[in-house]
Amino acid sequence: MSAPKKGDLSSSEKELFEVITRGNVQEASRLLGCKDVRVNCLDEYGMTPLMHAAYKGKADMCKLLLQHGADVNCNEHEHGYTALMFAGLSGNTEIAWMMLDAGAETDVVNSVGRTAAQMAAFVGQHDCVTVINNFFSRARLDYYTKPQGLEKEPKLPPKLAGPLHKIIMSTNLNPVKMVLLVQENPLLAEVEALDKCRRVMELISEKCIKQQDMNEVLAMKMHYISCVLGKCASFLKDREDKLEGLIKSLLKGRDSDGFPVFQEKFIRECIRKFPYCDATLLQQLVRSIAPVEIGNDPTAMSVLTQAITGQVGFMDAEFCTTCGEKGAEKRCSICKMVIYCNPTCQKMHWFTHKKVCKKLQEQREKQEAESAKLRMKQSSEESKAVTEATESMEQLSVETNSDVTSSNAAAETSDATSIPDAEN
Ligand SMILES: [Zn+2]
Ligand SMILES: [Zn+2]
Repeated sequence: MSAPKKGDLSSSEKELFEVITRGNVQEASRLLGCKDVRVNCLDEYGMTPLMHAAYKGKADMCKLLLQHGADVNCNEHEHGYTALMFAGLSGNTEIAWMMLDAGAETDVVNSVGRTAAQMAAFVGQHDCVTVINNFFSRARLDYYTKPQGLEKEPKLPPKLAGPLHKIIMSTNLNPVKMVLLVQENPLLAEVEALDKCRRVMELISEKCIKQQDMNEVLAMKMHYISCVLGKCASFLKDREDKLEGLIKSLLKGRDSDGFPVFQEKFIRECIRKFPYCDATLLQQLVRSIAPVEIGNDPTAMSVLTQAITGQVGFMDAEFCTTCGEKGAEKRCSICKMVIYCNPTCQKMHWFTHKKVCKKLQEQREKQEAESAKLRMKQSSEESKAVTEATESMEQLSVETNSDVTSSNAAAETSDATSIPDAEN
């Protein structure tokens, strides 16, 4: 079969493009079995079937095309877009993931010099940016599970690659979550295993800095993971209460407001210990964190998360107070000021939260009372402004020279109504 040329399509191939648009996977599967259908054929713009499926957000179709050998790195599109870029534009994280997993290059640029992550960011698809920036293929990790050069044994025992890869791929950098991931795997929760993983993380970090297209984000992430694993190892070695103790230390809040001081200091220390002092990312992080007094916003966790995952709006989404997972919905029924994934996370946090729960409840009630008062004041001012406006309107109908008063009153009215409620 000849190499595909732009717009040179058999009638079955034309049909395939239509079927993809309609999302009929079964029909696409039948067509892909035909002799005159090339999975990497190109339409007149140089788009492959995979690019179409990715752009239209059709995950099942992408899967099918990849199974039939679709080239994930085809770059014949007239503006140099790849399937990963189309996935980023569609905002479908599952598809972005699929493309990466199939070996999509992340550093290819289109005709205006943008990578897939930059394209996704440009159109506001931040979840896709996160997926792309944090992708680290299992194959890259598996390299360390084979003896290299004169090594008698690999740096990473193969059985550790799975659990370690799970930690690497997590977009939740909360140290509590990472310790929980270590704890759930008996192979990993052991000093010797942790030390090996830590060394591999530092090696990858170094490689990310020294390779030609430097990836500071991934280097920082690997370094950070290495620090957390190191902390786990030291607690397993020296402490009676092992990883439970580490989790408690990370969660323990100070008496005044429950702010987890140890956790904040630990994350700051991890960042400071990043060994590549010239890295722009390190300097950026230090500049954002250093002037912030401990206990104030932004926290080191939020700054680090934003830098590494590109997650925007980290502060206002609903994150578990204990483990930092997104989408937590269970609120402490007393203070209603902290949220958790589930009762397990709440239970883990209670030993420290119970010291401030009452105080938080009082604070919330005080705030609520104040905003209720404010709302009442606002609505009375509003009606006053309306009355004034009406009066001046009436005046306007009598006196023809009252332009100034009436426009003032109108301005007042619109001001009063544009203040949003403090609560929603
Ligand atoms: Zn949680
Ligand atoms: Zn509470």
